[in-house]
Amino acid sequence: MNNIFSNIPVLYKHYKATSAILRKVFKYPLTPDKSGRIIADRLSRRNENFLETVEKTIYSFSSSPYRLLLDRAGYGFQDVYKLVMTRGIEDALGDMYSKGVYIDILEFKGKKTAVRGEASFNFREKDFSNPLLTTGLDTKSGGTRSSGTSIVVPLEYIEQHNVYGVFAARENNMMKNPAVIWLPILPAGEGLFFNLRFAAMGNPPVKWFSQVDEKYIKPSATDKLKTKTSIWTAALYGKKIPAPEFIDMRKTVNIARWMDANLGNAPGFSVVTYASSALRLITEAKKHNFRLGETAFWLMGEPLTDKISEEIRDFGCRAYSLYGCNELMIIGQGCANPRQPDDMHFCKDKLAVLQRKTDVEHSDVSVDAFYFSTILKSSPKIFLNTQTGDYGVIEKRSCGCGFEKLGFTEHIHTVRSFEKLTAEGATFIGSDLIPLVQKVLPSEFGGNATDYQFVEEPDESGFPRLFILVSPDLGGIDDNRLKELVFETMGSGEYSHAYSRSYWSQADTIRIKREYPVPTARGKIVPLHIRKRTG
Ligand SMILES: [Zn+2]
Repeated sequence: MNNIFSNIPVLYKHYKATSAILRKVFKYPLTPDKSGRIIADRLSRRNENFLETVEKTIYSFSSSPYRLLLDRAGYGFQDVYKLVMTRGIEDALGDMYSKGVYIDILEFKGKKTAVRGEASFNFREKDFSNPLLTTGLDTKSGGTRSSGTSIVVPLEYIEQHNVYGVFAARENNMMKNPAVIWLPILPAGEGLFFNLRFAAMGNPPVKWFSQVDEKYIKPSATDKLKTKTSIWTAALYGKKIPAPEFIDMRKTVNIARWMDANLGNAPGFSVVTYASSALRLITEAKKHNFRLGETAFWLMGEPLTDKISEEIRDFGCRAYSLYGCNELMIIGQGCANPRQPDDMHFCKDKLAVLQRKTDVEHSDVSVDAFYFSTILKSSPKIFLNTQTGDYGVIEKRSCGCGFEKLGFTEHIHTVRSFEKLTAEGATFIGSDLIPLVQKVLPSEFGGNATDYQFVEEPDESGFPRLFILVSPDLGGIDDNRLKELVFETMGSGEYSHAYSRSYWSQADTIRIKREYPVPTARGKIVPLHIRKRTG
């Protein structure tokens, strides 16, 4: 608190941001129909919006990474314009991709030199920030970014997103039931965003549970005050946002008990949380005979697997997947008639996507990686054929739900990451595991890089676990010491890892298995084994 005075400008900005959102929300309340019209209108202006974004955020800035790649490939703005108007956005993007206009995930993070033909470029993550952006709500990722990188999300962008939430809430029948947000506190933005979103649709949450405690993640005084400021500001506008309440994952039974006691005559709750948190909740409710009614879940942060989806359905509840990332926010919104557990509609009014076979670094697996491009010029980061580190399936099918009628004809599902380990809502970046496997563990416990391997997979109950395979040839290893060392290395300085550590130690996510590391199809032992799976 000693630097409260230096925090005042930051807090004032935050207050201005949240109050501007709430004022708009109050003045122009969004209905599902109105939301649908806004989305349909954006779709009808998709080409124009894309071209405007390319012109104003890329061609107007000579230092834009994409401008450098486009110049090198010989595209002037007029060439892009002609391509889009004659062949459409996706074809134009495919053409650009084939001439080296794309960014892979390591290039995006500044961890790899981008080599295109004779040319090479060293980009930094901040080079991809929207150059038009002046102000907004400033958040840090709960999972994937280092403490130094915060993302400023323009108000306009947050507002543009409320329409998906409001429209989807009707499709997924989440408008009326009491809403519970079960997501972490600031500096991770998700918890606060979903509180604001439900307030926007006229169903302010009744509870905000957080998986992380202040004492683990040590939010700055500013972050703590920002959370409070948001709650006070909402109250000022007559929207009651609950204060966050920390519940240790091992005490998830308390949430189940609270829901049972507070269900009353409501058919169920509307809950936004991580897939594994929902699984924990269902497991506890089953065990203790607590009622959850026909609770509907919006699940994010990690794959909604067959197993998790089945458990939820068996208990009479429903689950819809949400897919997004910090740089782009929502990418896919759960289909009301899902065919796969994580069957979603791709938000094509704000993004375009290509899929290209991509080799995974430090592995010999190749995947159909997503390459996204931003259509709206308010996006916090600008993407032009840019990877997020995910792959999956994109297909057109007729589902009959409201999103299809709007024109969201592409479904996105079975989304997985090829560069992050995701468990219990926390992530760990694959390339950061390399030194652990190659140096830290062998120098402490002996053996070499091929004696250790990280594998992410669900355990028998469906909970995501991170297994560390340790070669049985190595004797006398203290499991606790090994786990401790992994935590120590993860916890050194980065926010993401502080979160991971907090989640993972609560959830007992890391398990050690005395097994030989799994070789790839070509016989290599890689530090991070990607289990390709559909479940
Ligand atoms: Zn649908």
